[in-house]
Amino acid sequence: MVSRVTILGSTGSIGVYTLDVVRRHKDRYELFALTANRGVEKMGEQCLEFGPRYAVMRDADSAAELARRLAGKCATEVLGGDAALVEIAGASESDVVMAAIVGGAGLAPTIAAAQAGKRVLLANKESLVMAGDIFFQAVRAGGALLLPIDSEHNAIYQCLANGADGHAGGVRKIWLTASGGPLLRTPIDSLPGVSPAEACAHPNWKMGRKISVDSATMMNKGLELIEASWLFDIDPSLVEIVIHPQSIVHSMVEYEDGSVIAQLGNPDMRTPIAHALAWPERIQSGSRPLKLIDTAGLHFEAVELERFPCLALARDVAGREQSLSIALNAANEVAVQGFLDELISFTDIPLIIEKVLEQTDPAPAPAIDDVFAIDLEARGRAVAVMKHR
Ligand code: NAD
Ligand code: MG
Repeated sequence: MVSRVTILGSTGSIGVYTLDVVRRHKDRYELFALTANRGVEKMGEQCLEFGPRYAVMRDADSAAELARRLAGKCATEVLGGDAALVEIAGASESDVVMAAIVGGAGLAPTIAAAQAGKRVLLANKESLVMAGDIFFQAVRAGGALLLPIDSEHNAIYQCLANGADGHAGGVRKIWLTASGGPLLRTPIDSLPGVSPAEACAHPNWKMGRKISVDSATMMNKGLELIEASWLFDIDPSLVEIVIHPQSIVHSMVEYEDGSVIAQLGNPDMRTPIAHALAWPERIQSGSRPLKLIDTAGLHFEAVELERFPCLALARDVAGREQSLSIALNAANEVAVQGFLDELISFTDIPLIIEKVLEQTDPAPAPAIDDVFAIDLEARGRAVAVMKHR
């Protein structure tokens, strides 16, 4: 049977990799909808190649421009705006939703997909950081099947003994591997002068700019620590982080009996994407076979927290009141954008997040509206802190 796939964020790094896997398996998958923020050029090409039923541009002007470009060339219906995005994410005609929007903007459509009971392929880790509890309520209420796309979490999913629901017994610890990013060996006193281009020059992965900066600060690993604790229902204190610069071992599960199970592969996001698309079957992803003999060696080392203060901030809020994780994520998004826009320096990022956390009351966020309100307030605070630097 052919699965109908929606890709939220199809013009981004994960979106394009997903289309590459789908392209290899046209007998198994067809596109129901593609969505993006602006990026009309790329979206136009994707629509012409894959002919989805719908294309949604969040930005209304971009939607109008896309509709003009596609007129008379393909049957794709173009929609615009946030409401259309949420509606398409939960539309009854699709089977699979790849949640690959970057940042808090992905939360509402990802929850809509979960509520609608889709096979949800979760790349948008910010959704879990902001609203893990609400997200899992939606998954349960909708009967969704949640499969992680983040390479570490996909690896852990594969390493858990039953693999199916993430609740294997006898787990002692989860080991998240981290490449350390492009600044692992940069002298700490040179970090204030790091440019956006340097921060985005990841040695192993080609990704969007926001997650690239997050990898350079290691906030990415902090968000992943919180993501792992929600996905695998494990206390954050049992999630360890180890630097592994080669990005071959994607993560590990340590069991009570001393067994440590790891998942290995070349760093290529098409592997977790293919895994989650086809699970429990296995399909080709297009990634190169791993040749361990040709690999220079697998190296592991401890994280230097003074080099990566963002990781310490995330560790501090993990498992605590939800408002703190929401504020951490919101302040990080604002600070990273400020850094990419060259308004602040690389080392200002953790300082801004820390200030916003100091101004945030620890509180639960029982409803989605609470999440959005705390998020908005934290973004406002982050902008104000940034202005006063
Ligand atoms: P990206 O910046 O390359 O792409 C983001 C996509 O989201 C684009 O299609 C863009 O049009 C869309 N988008 C941006 N803002 C939007 C908005 N306000 N409303 C609607 N759509 C919007 O990002 P990416 O690197 O593909 O990352 C996507 C998500 O996957 C992130 O949450 C990231 O943490 C996660 N992730 C990415 C990788 C990777 O290798 N790139 C690996 C693991 C996890
Ligand atoms: Mg990751």
